[in-house]
Parts: sequence; structure tokens; C-alpha cells
Amino acid sequence: MNRRPIIAGNWKMNTSLDEALALARGVREQTESVDSIERVLIPPFPWILAVHGEVSGSGITVGAQNCYMEQSGAFTGEVSPAMLAPHCSYVVLGHSERRHVLGETDDQVAAKVTAAHSSGLSVILCVGETLEEREAGRAEQIVSQQLRAGLGNVSWGMTQSIVIAYEPVWAIGTGVAASTQDAQDMAAFVRSTLANVFDQKTANSVRIQYGGSVKGDNAAELLGCPDVDGALVGGASLNADDFGEIIRAAAAQVN
Ligand code: PEP
Repeated sequence: MNRRPIIAGNWKMNTSLDEALALARGVREQTESVDSIERVLIPPFPWILAVHGEVSGSGITVGAQNCYMEQSGAFTGEVSPAMLAPHCSYVVLGHSERRHVLGETDDQVAAKVTAAHSSGLSVILCVGETLEEREAGRAEQIVSQQLRAGLGNVSWGMTQSIVIAYEPVWAIGTGVAASTQDAQDMAAFVRSTLANVFDQKTANSVRIQYGGSVKGDNAAELLGCPDVDGALVGGASLNADDFGEIIRAAAAQVN
């Protein structure tokens, strides 16, 4: 199955407007001719419009880091999928920082996935276990639970607008990436869970990213795993040279 690799940079709550624009410009320049890779920049909400303008015509698209599960109304401080859809192609849902720092539940993630889809946004659905859960031998159980819950309202026809990001919490922002064996094993486990939830053909068509301390120097081996179809990158996406190196590492595997 030919799955186009997808490299997405989650800037989290970082960058000033000037830094965001310079970063977007830098990534654009660094990856001008890399059409084989889907490239997504995910800035903080207030910079989405400006970054969208900066990358226009480059093939790079823009994503949001979160959205609410309603399209409008009295929800002070929230941003709806309908508001994002004209400017974004993706929304990240269920990121570990939202689950573990901000207390987001599986049910909320599932409702957001549905709302995002109904506005035409594709979803990067994040799943992953904590160190404690891994050490207790519960990594697969947690990932299966997050996946099944997050995809609870997803019908077969919606699966092409879903990307799964396997992000072990212990690897995010720590500088310690999963080994290629662990990344491949869990990506394969995600794919087999998708086959159980949908069917094997669908599972083979869904892209699975690895996320957690991906850098220029480990990207090639992580992206070389047969079930890993891209990366969700935090820290290294804040530097255009580093992010460009990761994108080129992905492109080298395709060419
Ligand atoms: C992330 O936040 O999704 C992430 C993978 O961060 P980092 O690359 O910094 O580990």
C-alpha cells in the first residue's frame, strides 16, 4: 500500500508572530521541491492566518493544535472546527499534553474528532502510553483504549481523513526517542487495532506517525520502520534547518 509520508511540526505555545513567520518561510525555502512528503505546520491559534498566508502556494499546509467539539455558541475561550476549516487542513486531537496536563478525556477527544470531521478538517489523533503504563506492561492496552475511544464515532468513510500519531509520553520533549523496534512494534499494533475496528484494507491505508524526540539524526531510522508513515515533531520543528533535515530524511526513503 502506497502511503504518502506526512511530517507535521507542532509548535505548541511557542514562537512570537515574527518568529512564526520566519520559521514558516525557512521551512518553505528548505523543502521547496519535496512534494513526495506531506508537510504540515501547526502554529499557535493566533498565528494560523499569518502562517497560512506565508506558505500559500508552497504545498505546505497548516494545522491547529486543538479545537472544541461544538461549532459555535457560548463557549468562552474555545475555537470551533468551523472557524479553523478555512485556514487549516488538519487539527491535532488528543495530544498527551492535553490529556495529561489539561485533563482531556477519551470521550471529549471522540466528540472533537466528530466535530472536526463534520467541518472538513482532517485529524491527527494522538495516542500513547506513559512510562508508568509501559513499565507495568500496559502500553498496548492504553493505546488500544485511546484508539478505540477516539475512533468511536468514525465510520469507514471517514478514515481517509484520519492520521494516527503514536507518541509515547515518555519520549515527548525528553530527548529520548523510542527505539526503532518499539516504534515499529507499536505502529504495527496500531495498524492491527485499526484492522479490528475497521478492516485490513482500511488499516493498510491509514497513515501512522511516530512522535517523541524525533530529530535530524534519528529521523531516517524511525521513518524507515515499515509501519511508520511520518512523524509528529515538537522541539525540532521550531528550527527550520532541523525540521527541513527531518523532511529530507523522509523524502530520501521515498526516492
Ligand atoms: C510532540 O509534542 O508531539 C512531540 C513529539 O514533541 P518532541 O518532538 O519535542 O518530543
